[in-house]
Amino acid sequence: MDLRSLTLEELKTDLAEHGEKAFRAGQIYDWVHKKCAASVEEMTNLSKQLRENLKEWYEFEEFEIARCQISQIDGTRKYLFALSDGNMIESVLMRYKHGNSVCISSQVGCRMGCAFCASTLDGLVRNLTAGEMLGQIYRIEHDTGERVANVVVMGSGEPMDNFDNIVKFIGMLTDKNGLNISQRNITVSTCGLVPRMKELAEKQFQITLALSLHATTDERRRTLMPIANRYSIEELMEACKYYFDKTGRRITFEYSLVSGVNDSEEEATRLAALAGPVHAHVNLIPVNPIKERSFLPSDQKRIRAFQNKLEKNGINVTIRREMGRDIDGACGQLRRKVLEESRDGE
Ligand code: SAH
Repeated sequence: MDLRSLTLEELKTDLAEHGEKAFRAGQIYDWVHKKCAASVEEMTNLSKQLRENLKEWYEFEEFEIARCQISQIDGTRKYLFALSDGNMIESVLMRYKHGNSVCISSQVGCRMGCAFCASTLDGLVRNLTAGEMLGQIYRIEHDTGERVANVVVMGSGEPMDNFDNIVKFIGMLTDKNGLNISQRNITVSTCGLVPRMKELAEKQFQITLALSLHATTDERRRTLMPIANRYSIEELMEACKYYFDKTGRRITFEYSLVSGVNDSEEEATRLAALAGPVHAHVNLIPVNPIKERSFLPSDQKRIRAFQNKLEKNGINVTIRREMGRDIDGACGQLRRKVLEESRDGE
């Protein structure tokens, strides 16, 4: 059993079965979820015997930092964590004026197959548990000694393909006995698994849901994202409307601009026509080139023209500030690089 994945109630019940008093559960939960302990040894107000028992009863992933690349440009830190089963996952700490933001992975690898993304090149290895998602944030707090204010689930993996663990993760991240992060400071990004988007709407969380749209026609979207063969843009927009109606929260459309592929003004006009009726905000991201693919980002002029067109049509637009360009900032790049290095070394 993974200690970090147990809610306070679950921990209380489980410790009671081991004959431990209820207040111990509170102490342990506090170490794990508030003080962000990286090992059982750090839990110094527990007896040595209890610490030994905990190590026997539970798994407690220590999140060994295999790499940490720090951007010379903006201080962004990209972490590569080595898990005890030999897998590696990436997380990113971005420092903004309004506070620290952490981008976490939801799976080891990914099976969605998006054409421009490095995370999916080797397919899906496995889902991450709720504790492994929390652990990425805790380990970064532990390493920097700085509070994390915002969490975005936009690293490797498709969160809606790991639904139950994501829901548990949101519950624990917003728990007042843990980091107590407000739901409004959490963003979950999906490539558009329609049934899961609706299921998430039912939960009525006040989080931000981001939809990776990247194209305005099914035909074009299919060339970039295989998931577009399963769900049409029409079905996606219906799910967005459902989400907005259920939660009252505006959805964000993520739109990675690829030069000559999806960055025409015509496309901007169509994007505005999609975003308007579902009250979506558009976040433009110049595509981050990966060496395995030939996609190039749109130039500044194109990006501005695209933005202007959206704004003229009454759409709220932001251009994603590019962070960590010098440190393999794009999803899955660092993990892939290190995996390749170790393969070359064999
Ligand atoms: N699977 C989820 C979350 C992870 S990807 C999703 O698809 O939304 C987070 C965002 O980064 C998505 O919008 C994804 O399409 C985008 N992305 C992935 N690789 C990228 C790259 N090389 N350049 C720009 N955006 C990229």
